[in-house]
Amino acid sequence: MPETLGRDDVVRCPNDDLEFRPYFTEGMCPLCGWSVPTPVARPWTHTADWVWLTFAALVLASVVMIIVVLVAS
Ligand SMILES: [Zn+2]
Repeated sequence: MPETLGRDDVVRCPNDDLEFRPYFTEGMCPLCGWSVPTPVARPWTHTADWVWLTFAALVLASVVMIIVVLVAS
């Protein structure tokens, strides 16, 4: 078994024998909620701090607006 489970790794639940890909179920069995003992890789969109990314985008947009106004006047 690899150290972390990626998007193509399939795991079989010991409780209900269901095969699933924990990458898409946040490491939990969709039927009984059993959680996979191996850590599951998470897409960067889930681990990124969107508050700061949004704030940075807002600041960047403001700076661009200031430059546009200064250039136009
Ligand atoms: Zn299960």
